[in-house]
Amino acid sequence: MPSTAGPVPGPRLRAVLDDLALFQPSAAPSATGPVHLLGSNESPDDPLPGVLAAIADAAAHVNRYPDFAGTELVAELGRFHGVPRESIVLGAGSVALLQLLFQAVGEPGAEAVHAWRSFELYPVLAGLAGVRGVRVPLVDGVHDLKAIAGSVTTRTRMIVICNPNNPTGTVVEAAELSELMRHVPSDVLVVLDEAYFEYVRAPRVASGVAMHRDWPNLVVLRTFSKAYGLAGLRVGYMIGEPSVIARLRTAGLPYSVSVVAQAAALAALRLREHVFARVEQTVAERRRVRARLLDAGWDVTESHANFLWLGQGPASIEFACRCSGAGVLVRAFPGEGVRVSLGSPADNDAFLAACQGV
Ligand SMILES: *Cc1c(COP(=O)(O)O)cnc(C)c1O
Repeated sequence: MPSTAGPVPGPRLRAVLDDLALFQPSAAPSATGPVHLLGSNESPDDPLPGVLAAIADAAAHVNRYPDFAGTELVAELGRFHGVPRESIVLGAGSVALLQLLFQAVGEPGAEAVHAWRSFELYPVLAGLAGVRGVRVPLVDGVHDLKAIAGSVTTRTRMIVICNPNNPTGTVVEAAELSELMRHVPSDVLVVLDEAYFEYVRAPRVASGVAMHRDWPNLVVLRTFSKAYGLAGLRVGYMIGEPSVIARLRTAGLPYSVSVVAQAAALAALRLREHVFARVEQTVAERRRVRARLLDAGWDVTESHANFLWLGQGPASIEFACRCSGAGVLVRAFPGEGVRVSLGSPADNDAFLAACQGV
């Protein structure tokens, strides 16, 4: 049903465009606005020098189309994960691969099941692909896999599991996910969105890279946007069973990962020891900031990502405004909570200072 009374002037477009909530990025940094950018879960660190050098070298070749298959990057990813290159497909960020997946299952009547609250783009991408999104409420910030299994019908084509979950930071364990996989018909695609996997310190976490070997209907999404610090270049990838990947590949746009993005991702992957050292600092900050907040009486979910979730309920907007007034940009989910990314120690101290006296 169109959300507006009467026709919208101008060209006739799909009604779903008027119904979809516009994706709202965190406010852009400005000279007068917040200086601590903790709203988008980005890496706070400057690109590694070796990555910047690779970007500069690649810039000399942008008159040519990118390597169609991303040969070198795919080979390095294959070695890193121990999977054949036929199991890997690149995308312009993992969000582009999510869009590919929704389109690949988007026949009339198709449904996709996902948890809620979760990544805000799932309902948008479902709507754009003509897929009915089925939202299964989190329980205490955690995926309710039994309820997700119970929501599967003959119309279900896809289940998306965000692990760790954005914005709550909680994880699904391997045993629980195996249980879900046993319940799910083998013609339903199960997508693990592991955008924050590098930050997980839960020993029993489900790993899509490990589990796709047992379940051909399972694919996993990873990204260079978070731990690898390349959000601005847009590179992600999907791993799955080669015959499934071969069919899904057809739904992707050719040449979508640029020359520069491929080179930067390859350099970052080769420098992964440095990347992982930075991730370790973020994990240490996560523990420090959460401990400080718990000491001060805050309710903070244990997170396995590069952000913390404060279940502020109705006070969320007011709290986010207070942070903004103190120069700290966070992400508020009205009526539910506030997600704050872990930045540099100075960023995080600014956030802790803003929390004082609330
Ligand atoms: C940040 C994020 C992504 C990453 O998207 P890119 O397109 O790779 O930048 C994917 N999924 C979730 C849940 C995220 O929070």
